[in-house]
Amino acid sequence: MEIKNLKNYIANEWVESKSKESLEVRNPATNEVMARVPLSTVEEVGEAVRAAQEAFQDWRETTPYTRARYMFRLKNLMEERFEDLAQIIVREHGKILDEARGEVRRGIENVEVAAGVPSLMMGYNMEDVSQGIDEDCIYQPVGVFCCVTPFNFPSMVPLWFLPYAVACGNTYIVKPSELCPMSQNILFELFDEVDFPPGVVNLVHGDKRAVDALLDHPDVRGLSFVGSTPVGKYIYAKAAANGKRAQCQTGAKNCLVVMGDAVLDKTVPSIMSSVFGTAGQRCLAGALVIAVGDVYEPLKDKLLESAARIKVGDGLDETVQMGPVVSQKSLDRILGYVEKGIEEGATLLLDGRDIQVEGYPNGYFIGPTIFTDVTSDMVIAREEIFGPVLGVIRVDDFNEALDVIHDSPYGNAASLFTSSGKWAREFKYRVRAGNLGINIGIAAPIASFPFCGMKDSFFGDLHGQGRDAIDFFTDRKVVISRWF
Ligand code: NAD
Repeated sequence: MEIKNLKNYIANEWVESKSKESLEVRNPATNEVMARVPLSTVEEVGEAVRAAQEAFQDWRETTPYTRARYMFRLKNLMEERFEDLAQIIVREHGKILDEARGEVRRGIENVEVAAGVPSLMMGYNMEDVSQGIDEDCIYQPVGVFCCVTPFNFPSMVPLWFLPYAVACGNTYIVKPSELCPMSQNILFELFDEVDFPPGVVNLVHGDKRAVDALLDHPDVRGLSFVGSTPVGKYIYAKAAANGKRAQCQTGAKNCLVVMGDAVLDKTVPSIMSSVFGTAGQRCLAGALVIAVGDVYEPLKDKLLESAARIKVGDGLDETVQMGPVVSQKSLDRILGYVEKGIEEGATLLLDGRDIQVEGYPNGYFIGPTIFTDVTSDMVIAREEIFGPVLGVIRVDDFNEALDVIHDSPYGNAASLFTSSGKWAREFKYRVRAGNLGINIGIAAPIASFPFCGMKDSFFGDLHGQGRDAIDFFTDRKVVISRWF
């Protein structure tokens, strides 16, 4: 296979980076090098910001209806290239084809919602706030925005932000994950076909240096970050110090609470896809199952039986149910946590460490792994493992389950499995996490709802997607007027 040097896209031109530094992009199923991604320089980031800044004035004066039409064209092109987009995600990330298709679909849905900008961006007013005086609130675009995104949804996450920003009349720069950067190049081929005015959408590959250059640039007005908690905290603080608005969606350790009255035959498949889907590399992945009371024993047996049947392999093989993890480094980190769990005294009910995938001797594979007898103070119960490793905790009652959830520094998602409306309501009312599932294992908000998160899972106030996105990407201006 030809190894591609990935280019940046600035002011509607594909440009080769002048940086001397680059990284290899490997297929996690085979360990083959597929591309090289440049670590762009501060000057190259500056060129992208200049292009975006120069494009801003004309773009903000383009009518919202016209801006929405770009979204319709983008949607149509994404539908046409749907399978290409899904395949490239599998090859750079490792997830299975069905999950990649789901990712592309979620991306398209954000484009569809952003196309509603002629309604979403409407302001409001009131006559006679005082005698003969009227007051209007109008929504205006702000300027240049950018996003810094993670490896695990390399195609979708930039679409949590870019369509809304651009539809609202801002201009944009994407800095993708250096681990999975290829799908963004395909997406920018589509942006190129959509033919946005030069500078409206830009792509700059890179690492921390590029991110810092974006954060330090006076013409960047705001940044959306999705990634790990330590990096998100750093970016949020630096953005604030530099007077930029920021929204940082970060790490997670999500609990799935199973009550004694849960419908186990429906609960177990839901837990399986939450924990082992995308090989556990989802910020909404269930990481801990909290079994309340006597359900612990039967649940444990059913989890083992189902997880042991999961077929692991190359995500492009449609019979496979779980792909590899993204990199050798991730695999080593996950294996380290398995060692740690054994050391801490948890019982290794299912050991995925020595899995062999025929024909793929060099892939970064680990099979579904389950620990039981886990306690909430263990490292494997507290830290984000971001791999297919489940911990099962036994508690005596509902309140104790909530204590385990609240003991965690994270607050991204939590789910409850029950037949009781009373427990469901208590859960909804009391749990401090941003995305809740009731008899749903992956509480993923669709595009017209905000993607929430609390505690160490989110820094900011306005989230990605939905109405929050419109507020994040606009300034509200109030006009109070009197005419004589
Ligand atoms: P990461 O934090 O390593 O990287 C994310 C981005 O930050 C990348 O683009 C990377 O280039 C950049 N970056 C890395 N180190 C940096 C530094 N020191 N300074 C500035 N920029 C830096 O995250 P990842 O491993 O790519 O993604 C996995 C993480 O993302 C997990 O913690 C997961 O929970 C989280 N995540 C959260 C959500 C959410 O919505 N809350 C969604 C998806 C993933």
